[in-house]
Amino acid sequence: MKNSLRWIDIGVNLTNTGFDKDRDQVIADAQDAGVVYQIVTGTNAKDSHQAHRLCKKHPQQLFSTAGCHPHDAKDFSKQDLTKIKKLLTQPQVVAVGECGLDFNRNFSPKEQQLSVFERQLQLAVEVNKPLFLHERDAFDAQHALLRNYRSQIKGAVIHCFTGEAHALKAYLDLDLYIGITGWICDERRGQTLNDLVRYIPDDRLMIETDAPYLLPRNMRPKPRSSRNLPQYLPYVAQKIAEARNCSLQELSTQCFRNSVNFFQLEAS
Ligand SMILES: [Zn+2]
Repeated sequence: MKNSLRWIDIGVNLTNTGFDKDRDQVIADAQDAGVVYQIVTGTNAKDSHQAHRLCKKHPQQLFSTAGCHPHDAKDFSKQDLTKIKKLLTQPQVVAVGECGLDFNRNFSPKEQQLSVFERQLQLAVEVNKPLFLHERDAFDAQHALLRNYRSQIKGAVIHCFTGEAHALKAYLDLDLYIGITGWICDERRGQTLNDLVRYIPDDRLMIETDAPYLLPRNMRPKPRSSRNLPQYLPYVAQKIAEARNCSLQELSTQCFRNSVNFFQLEAS
């Protein structure tokens, strides 16, 4: 895989215990593969704090998000909100999230998911930072809340978009960004996404690995471990470039620019 191209992985779960043994190496390997910046996903107050600490250790490569994932909404407290809000004053913490609604697994009750998500929409307005969003089988409710807050929030990216055409169109109509993961590399469940990705405007597309999850299935030879790594982002890019019928260079330029603009990263 060429590594003269520059990439930004907008969703890496680097605080995951699966990286405890070799986290620094994983970050360095991504850099060598052309992934010059990584946005470390925060999923609750404690995790967002760890993500920020990691950023401070690797200030040239890492940024992070701070928020509460819908799975963690059931444990969200007032203190968590205070902690997350404080983290969002830090320059390395570039977005509110991962937040949103997940009615697929319902690890937290729906009502709690809705209130914790709405609280984070308000937080995004207060701190004037964009949102890093998760949505699974909750399009109607998520879209309704986003529409209500759209004029007040700075922007939002639907991370790991895997929805249908109507959802894509509705999110784009709200002028949101779309994050695409290695889900698109799955020849079975990724087919819809593969067909839809060409409809995302050049200036609304971003890419991500969601490592350690979602190992791209187009890797040859297949790695022995199923653990996904940020250094595999070019494989996701390859698949997207094919689906959009554009060159890797074009895709790299577009996604890099979009990510820098959206997260207000210092362009280097
Ligand atoms: Zn997610």
